[in-house]
Amino acid sequence: MNDFKKLGLSNAVLKSINEHGFENPSAIQEKSIPLILAGEDVIAGSATGSGKTLAFASGILQNSEKGKGIQALILTPTRELAEQVANSFRDFSKYDPLKIVSIYGGVGINPQIKALQSAEVVVGTPGRLLDHISRNTIRFNNVKTLVLDEADHMFDLGFKVDVEKIIKKCPQNRQTLLFSATISKDVVQLSRKHMENPVRVSVESYIDPQKLNQVVYKVQDDMKLSLLVHLLKNEKSNLGMVFCNTKRNTDKVAKNLRKVGVNALAIHGGLTQNKRTHIMEEFHSGNISVLVCTDVAGRGLDIQGVSHVYNYDIPRESKQYIHRIGRTARAGAEGKAINILSKNDHANFMSVLKDNDVNIKEHALPALKKIVIEKPGRRLPKPVNKMKTPSRKGQQYTRHRNR
Ligand code: AMP
Repeated sequence: MNDFKKLGLSNAVLKSINEHGFENPSAIQEKSIPLILAGEDVIAGSATGSGKTLAFASGILQNSEKGKGIQALILTPTRELAEQVANSFRDFSKYDPLKIVSIYGGVGINPQIKALQSAEVVVGTPGRLLDHISRNTIRFNNVKTLVLDEADHMFDLGFKVDVEKIIKKCPQNRQTLLFSATISKDVVQLSRKHMENPVRVSVESYIDPQKLNQVVYKVQDDMKLSLLVHLLKNEKSNLGMVFCNTKRNTDKVAKNLRKVGVNALAIHGGLTQNKRTHIMEEFHSGNISVLVCTDVAGRGLDIQGVSHVYNYDIPRESKQYIHRIGRTARAGAEGKAINILSKNDHANFMSVLKDNDVNIKEHALPALKKIVIEKPGRRLPKPVNKMKTPSRKGQQYTRHRNR
């Protein structure tokens, strides 16, 4: 706790940190909070799970006053992240409350217009914020701090132009804080254009290799689901996230998992906001134990207690691998990332190995009971037992990048 005091945080924030039971500042908090409190523009290389929300909240909570309009704007790539960040802000401001409003599409605009009239901190996604700007229902002239949260993800989703439009609506003499898991060319370009002598801080890696066990199983395409079911039923797991590359696959996998008694739900961008919120509540409360998701839905979500990440499909973009496995082994907990590799995933897996600093061990395929994937409109044939020949064991894929 003393280490938090040394960073210069206010008593109100320290009290809520104490209540959360955080013992020491995380690496990114230690490095960025003193700079943020000193009013510097900061580019922070860190991802969800690193404690970045408290880092950018610290300055905003200390510099904002009740009744003085919107003094902080936080841009997030997804609705879920906006909700998550807004909720964290509410927690951290418990002893010096501010009105924190989250703004995103897929829900009614009128309640947002009303809430914005008394907001001091706004957390939102670019599309709906632009909608409010065009309706003149949001004013940024009192904004002192602008945060771009998960900037790389925002650019991946094609929000670059929208983000710039919003930045231009904020006062020039503001503080700008940019948080991003990867510092891409777009991130650097944006910082050159819109930040004042930014100080760059980063934490070595947000994955603790000691705590994260990465494995790969090689399997025939038609046995992927059988392997997943076997692992879900045999691994000592708490909560699991299963990543697929398409919405269609997430629905198919979740449906077939439920058929064999695994408590799973799919989440992806094709669902309504209400449905997505409901699914997240079910997962947070532990009512469902497996979340099957696409990268867009899964990234940035702060879900406590994810012990296993399964790559049912190996991601097409190798950097997504890092985002996916970052859902587990967080805040000092142990985690396991399991790659289910069939012939179709081979090229993607090679890119993951080439582009990332990862250590993935090959495990022998266990004896599997074949599960027939149900296709809509077809009767299921009777299940058959199919034992697969175990593959080579103990092969290890390691690649270290020069740091
Ligand atoms: P974030 O990176 O902001 O999404 O934070 C990830 C999780 O870590 C959240 O659940 C926070 O409540 C938690 N957290 C933030 N700071 C600390 C800390 N210093 N010690 C332990 N947990 C923390």
